[in-house]
Amino acid sequence: MPPRGTAERDPPVATNHPIADQVKFTTCYMCACRCGIKVHLKDGGIRYIEGNRDHPVNRGVLCAKGSAGIMQHNSPARLRKPLKRVGERGRGEFREIEWEEALGTAVEWLGAIRARDPKRLAFFTGRDQSQALTGWWAQQFGTVNYAAHGGFCSVNMAAAGLYTIGGSFWEFGEPDWERTKYFLMFGVAEDHDSNPIKIGLGKLKGRGAKVVSVNPIRTGYSAIADEWIGIRPGTDGLLVLSLIHELLRAGKVDADYLARYTNAPWLVIDDEGAADHGLFARGTDRGALVWDRRRERLVAASDPDALPALSGERRLPDGRRGVPSFELLAKRYLDPRYAPEAVAAETSVPAATIKRLAAELAHVAFEEAIVVDQPWTDTRGRHHARMIGRPIAMHAMRGISAHSNGFHTCRAIHLLQMLLGAVDTPGSFRYEPPFPRLIPPSGKPAAPVGAGTPLASPPLGFPQGPEDLLVDADGKALRIDKAFSWEAPLAAHGLLHLVIANACKRDPYEIDTLFLYMANMSWNSAMNTAGTMDMLTARDPATGAYEIPHIIYSDAYYSEMVAYADLVLPDTTYLERYDCISLMDRPISNADHAADAIRQPVVKPDRDVRPFQDVLIDLGARLKLPGFVAADGRPKYPGFYPDYIVNHERKPGVGPLAGWRGANGGQQGVGAVNPRQLERYVENQCFWQGEIPPEGRYYKFANRAYLEWSREMGFRDHVEPVVLQLYSELLQRFRLAARGHGRVLPPPEHRERVEKYFDPLPFWYAPFEGGGDGYPLHAITQRPMAMYHSWGSQNAWLRQIHGENLLHIHRARAAELGIADGDWVAVSSRHGRITVRAKLMDGVNRDTVWTWNAIGKRAGAWNLALGAHESKRGFLLNHLISELLPPRDGGYRYANADPVTGQAAWYDLHVRIEKASMPAGHSEPAFAVLGAPSLPARPSVLRYGDKFRPPRPGP
Ligand code: SF4
Repeated sequence: MPPRGTAERDPPVATNHPIADQVKFTTCYMCACRCGIKVHLKDGGIRYIEGNRDHPVNRGVLCAKGSAGIMQHNSPARLRKPLKRVGERGRGEFREIEWEEALGTAVEWLGAIRARDPKRLAFFTGRDQSQALTGWWAQQFGTVNYAAHGGFCSVNMAAAGLYTIGGSFWEFGEPDWERTKYFLMFGVAEDHDSNPIKIGLGKLKGRGAKVVSVNPIRTGYSAIADEWIGIRPGTDGLLVLSLIHELLRAGKVDADYLARYTNAPWLVIDDEGAADHGLFARGTDRGALVWDRRRERLVAASDPDALPALSGERRLPDGRRGVPSFELLAKRYLDPRYAPEAVAAETSVPAATIKRLAAELAHVAFEEAIVVDQPWTDTRGRHHARMIGRPIAMHAMRGISAHSNGFHTCRAIHLLQMLLGAVDTPGSFRYEPPFPRLIPPSGKPAAPVGAGTPLASPPLGFPQGPEDLLVDADGKALRIDKAFSWEAPLAAHGLLHLVIANACKRDPYEIDTLFLYMANMSWNSAMNTAGTMDMLTARDPATGAYEIPHIIYSDAYYSEMVAYADLVLPDTTYLERYDCISLMDRPISNADHAADAIRQPVVKPDRDVRPFQDVLIDLGARLKLPGFVAADGRPKYPGFYPDYIVNHERKPGVGPLAGWRGANGGQQGVGAVNPRQLERYVENQCFWQGEIPPEGRYYKFANRAYLEWSREMGFRDHVEPVVLQLYSELLQRFRLAARGHGRVLPPPEHRERVEKYFDPLPFWYAPFEGGGDGYPLHAITQRPMAMYHSWGSQNAWLRQIHGENLLHIHRARAAELGIADGDWVAVSSRHGRITVRAKLMDGVNRDTVWTWNAIGKRAGAWNLALGAHESKRGFLLNHLISELLPPRDGGYRYANADPVTGQAAWYDLHVRIEKASMPAGHSEPAFAVLGAPSLPARPSVLRYGDKFRPPRPGP
């Protein structure tokens, strides 16, 4: 019988036409999230991209960017062949060359540097996802001048987190989406961890959890939050410290949690003027001391029977005084200057709102605590029958990070979490493996070495005190970006935004070759864009040679930076190569699983291009770098990146991928090389995950089961607790150096700055670029859901969503300035002036203007039509931002960056706006049109899909 209502004569309706003849799994690269995708192929062409429902990151969810990967692959901006510059730098005049010539040229330049002084190579990468390889390559080459883009993106977040709780937000931890009842976001945009956050927000909304977004702009996640706090940019730290003030005042902190898992009870030496003032009092075994309330005596903080006091002055064994760090903390934040009434005007958040938020946090944490009946054992052998949860989760991102006070703001947020007992407890923020790390994290930055020598360790690392800085006997920086110097001591991700300016000034020295990958440094990745272009083309007046003698650049597309390169190594798209999303780098773990993934080529390149990672390995072998050649001098990885992914071991049994290790693929984490490892990944849809045992899923910092599992997986060498650091002794060591104590001291001119900003407890200070002198408005960017940096704004589909950007102004503020919707306005900062169109709105802080990030394009770049909106009406705020702060006494200019980490302070920008008197009809400044290398013809309409359409029936 046919189904009811279906006439027998009706043919069945085909609802699911096969659209492809092949489906391949791989990993998306249209943003940093790394979702699993299924690429449907027909006749060898990409037909359709679908989210992989089995993938741990996205569970089938695919965003607009991910779908538009098709047009990324079909972009007319794709480079086709290696290029050698023939005209002046910056004009875009090239000759196509063969790969042998390209690699030979690179080897000639790089080989000469390595034989003379390896640090004359500055090797910096942008948004790549292969830093485990690129960092290792730099180490083998022997240059300290290496970093990726983190210094201008997130290092405040990373460093503050790692030095405070041994982990961080971003994609290294996640809210407990299943149990959180209250989710507080600070400055979160829609890129990193994009789909997991969207999926998670859906869960929270479905369960009725409260979502609060603190952000000057109500877009993206803020638009769907239950409460939007339209804060003044750069004042989040003050808001958080005021929340802490309120919690302390009400006595709403988790004292048990603080006493057990943080350094709150550790006694701090109070001996003003002494070399160890402000350091922890330690016993004979160097372990910190606490006061045991039960036994009424000093005991080791690690004593499992201790009942530590959180307050009270104690007499130390040497007769001096010590106070628990919690007491110092409470004294500081109970000060009336942190009262809601005292911070309301500065933050733009009413005092009543701050009080209510604090009360809500306290209520959820302590009145709605949850209990998970899961026994567990801590590292001190104490058995716990259940897990207590404080169901408040926090998440913070670049809106916090990209300020000159971002490090302390990030620390303040972690402090708030700890006071509520809301780090890795049920319902709160949760670490993702391999985190948490020990505090301070292991691995110090490598010091420069001599000619032809590899570095002793990776170039980037985590200083544990002034002795680990990369400075000479006079305190002068040893890196070109001045990372790990007194100007940016904890610059764990380097300072990419300073490299070109410093190289041009030969400060601290000259370099020979700037080698960049995926870093659009002549445009949207640079502060002071016009100035940076000048620096890239600057010549030594004495010799006429370029100040930066050689620039090698690798990119898949004709981005603005290509025109400034002398040698261009064309990369593939992400759908044409192998990649490794490694636990050594930026893994895709979640709080219950360790996970990693690969990309596999789903189509073959139709151009003479090569994956950058292959090229790097090839260069390593040609340069005979240790680790890239076998004992007989032949290439160690003749199969290039796939060969390296499988066969490289960073230490015995530990390689780039954790899954299917061991000769037969039966081991995970640690195991011998498995020649079939990549095949096993492909069979498993290109990802692997290993499950954390149930008893190890919370309290990971002190959970024996987790830490043992983590050691077995090769993530750590020892099972020892990670003590959360409310009070940072490490910062105090730098402060003591500034006071003249210790072996390595800052030069006199830096002492005041180090003394001020290396405060062991978080504090708030106004961002360096203040609004005085007639620049009353904050100016910031947001990243749209549909785009990720400059890749997206040349994508034929995504351009239809955001083809231009406008300057968004609060409606009331615009009225005061006499500006109407669509008016051309002149925007001035201390550094520059741009002319753009205005758009009025309500959902923005009244003292803030903003625009979408990286949509403006330089005419001629990206193979866009000359009249494209991106270059005619799009614009960058970058023109208004200086990479340096104004001169201080003596004329020296510090970086426009956080003084602790060197994080670029993009969001400190202040501007003035006026209605433009003579609107030019296009955004300004406009730069000379870039010449174009041989790129494919640019159709006026880029069509996709015609070739897949079945022939239409004839008339
Ligand atoms: S969130 Fe990012 S990685 Fe995931 S589908 Fe979208 S663009 Fe791709």
